[in-house]
Amino acid sequence: RAKTLCNLRRAPGFRHHTPPMALIVHKYGGTSMGSPERIRNVAKRVAKWARAGHQIVVVPSAMSGETNRLLGLAGELAPAKATAEYHRELDMLAATGEQASSALLAIALQAEGMPAVSYTGWQVPVRTDSKARIESIDDQRVRADLDAGRVVIVTGFQGIDGDGNITTLGRGGSDTSAVAIAAAMKADECLIYTDVDGVYTTDPRVVPAARRLHTVSFEEMLEMASLGSKVLQIRSVEFAGKYKVPMRVLSSFTPW
Ligand code: ASP
Ligand code: MG
Repeated sequence: RAKTLCNLRRAPGFRHHTPPMALIVHKYGGTSMGSPERIRNVAKRVAKWARAGHQIVVVPSAMSGETNRLLGLAGELAPAKATAEYHRELDMLAATGEQASSALLAIALQAEGMPAVSYTGWQVPVRTDSKARIESIDDQRVRADLDAGRVVIVTGFQGIDGDGNITTLGRGGSDTSAVAIAAAMKADECLIYTDVDGVYTTDPRVVPAARRLHTVSFEEMLEMASLGSKVLQIRSVEFAGKYKVPMRVLSSFTPW
């Protein structure tokens, strides 16, 4: 039985501290998943959270550079075309990046002694319309695994449309996958692990005086995203605001 997102109960407001025994979604960006060594570090952190008693769903991006590499291969065979047939195959192709990183993370978790299973968007399924807007997420299978003590990994970036075609959510779309899954499952928190350690007033790599913000309202975050902040895909912020998903942006290079 698929849960329609618009029927969701609104989650309680922003929390700074994770409650004990929470349901938490971790999202890891491509840099965090960029090598076997980094995937092992992700697995260690995830295992630590799971051993602390939380139920963890992990949403990884493809390994850094992988989506560009795949799309580049398509471009070598045929110049970009606006046809539905071409875009269908691009989705089919690009979705493999997240499938690989998800399986690798499951393997790394198992190697840490932590039971884990990975699913593609279409296995869950994450249903989208033909324009790749998420319509519903069926959480039955994921919940059954969580209840059996497994960490569940769900590919970011992808879903399946009404005709059974794989869809992808646009560049940076794993953020939106993670927030949508958190909303559908009424997770206590959605933690976005990335290669920066939070949301800054401006890009700290460019402006050394940039300040890290303690909390950001969804409205401020939307404004920053529209002004070019690349921390989060804009659709994920819209989603988080609409369904009141408490979100934190954290560095994957810190130990917690
Ligand atoms: N792998 C996809 C991209 O490079 C989605 C993501 O990373 O969020 O855009
Ligand atoms: Mg991103």
